[in-house]
Amino acid sequence: MTVQVRVRFAPSPTGHLHIGGARTALFNWLYTRNRNGVFILRIEDTDRTRSTDEYIEAIINGMKWMGLDWDEGPYRQTDRFDVYRQYVERLVTEGKAYHCYCSAEELEERRKLALAMGKPPKYDNRCRNLKEPVPGVVPAVRFRMPQEGQTIVDDMIRGTVMFENSQLDDLIILRSDGTPTYNLTVVVDDVDMKITHVIRGDDHLNNTPKQIHIYKALGYETPLFAHLPMILGSDKTRLSKRHGATSVMAYHEMGYLPDALVNYLVRLGWSYGDQEIFSRDELIKHFSFKHVGKAAAVFNPEKLLWLNGQYIINTPSERLAAMVTPFLVREKILIEGQEIDNEWLAKAIDTLKERAKTLAELACSLRYYIADSVEYQEKAREKFLNDKSRDLLVGLKNSLEAAPGFTHQDIEKIFKDIVEKHGAKLKDLAQPVRVALTGGTESPGIFEVLEIVGREKTLKRLEKAIQTIENYSK
Ligand code: GLU
Repeated sequence: MTVQVRVRFAPSPTGHLHIGGARTALFNWLYTRNRNGVFILRIEDTDRTRSTDEYIEAIINGMKWMGLDWDEGPYRQTDRFDVYRQYVERLVTEGKAYHCYCSAEELEERRKLALAMGKPPKYDNRCRNLKEPVPGVVPAVRFRMPQEGQTIVDDMIRGTVMFENSQLDDLIILRSDGTPTYNLTVVVDDVDMKITHVIRGDDHLNNTPKQIHIYKALGYETPLFAHLPMILGSDKTRLSKRHGATSVMAYHEMGYLPDALVNYLVRLGWSYGDQEIFSRDELIKHFSFKHVGKAAAVFNPEKLLWLNGQYIINTPSERLAAMVTPFLVREKILIEGQEIDNEWLAKAIDTLKERAKTLAELACSLRYYIADSVEYQEKAREKFLNDKSRDLLVGLKNSLEAAPGFTHQDIEKIFKDIVEKHGAKLKDLAQPVRVALTGGTESPGIFEVLEIVGREKTLKRLEKAIQTIENYSK
């Protein structure tokens, strides 16, 4: 019988869900979905001074936005203190952990001294063999690490990594204030939650031998480990705010599509031939640790932006219409609660989606379709709304007013008739109309623009353009 895969994402709620954490969550999620396993969300909030409920919510929102659904949890470590204390007691009773009476100040002093003498700042094992408690002092509890031999971590990504046990500290597993520490809680939880694969960032690789000894002391088998290489910024230092936005929800706010971010993050470290763009189903189908590289990956915002543009192009405009609406409100192009015809909006988006790299950009480019009137760019007005274009614009306005239909084919025919009548070229009319309709000199095909803006608003804008020409020529 094969054992069901059970994995967990175990964020500490001391900040927002960031790019690195999101990628760890994603690799856990993909692996579970690929193997029909169970994905657990566990909030590691034992550091009470730095953990907040607000960050828990932010992490959950980030995961939901990315579509990383979990099957169990969220569990919170602060709900499980009694469980950890029982395990600690058991280790003390069995002689595998011991009470330490050294105060924080003493430890700090000895640490400094060791450093000054060029020695590793390890605990000096002073309380390891104490026979009697120190009266009046509440002790911490330390784990008795083996001091000789080696520990092998057999990692699914890194391969075999060897650690000298002499380098490992007798680490504190329970502070004197009764709170348990990370290396203990993580082992207890991974045992209790029957985790089969620990998939996390390789900043935890050095903790792994310590955790392996805690598993052994408790008499449990170790899970399999997969340590993901770090994500770096363009200057090859660890990705941080200096490199730009690192929180997942900041990308949401900038108008990235969750699927684009997922696609980008999965490619940071994982590959499948030369393929760049994957549907979620493809990712789930193809994902395995065989194709996860050992080397750190460099976060490339330009590539993410490009990928987002590709996702916008490939997303049906009806769906984009729903996604872009909050951005229209944010840009004050729509008023909150204002009705907008989705089918019409989708048609407008059809003409623009090839150019927009984000939903925010798409929203801004929709402005002239939706607004009641447009502002002219000064240079464009000067160049195109003048005596040379006046008669053409008047002719166009009259013909459009009288035209039976207002499809882009109807409009194209009218344009052609007008320029022929005036012995002009199509662009002599198209550019002034573009300025009249959009305020600037760049837009999608002008016939489509008119059709979407609609007859009523088109006529108003042409009228305003003609007025403007007349006002300036007075
Ligand atoms: N709470 C740890 C962190 O956020 C997770 C460690 C682990 O996955 O074992 O780094």
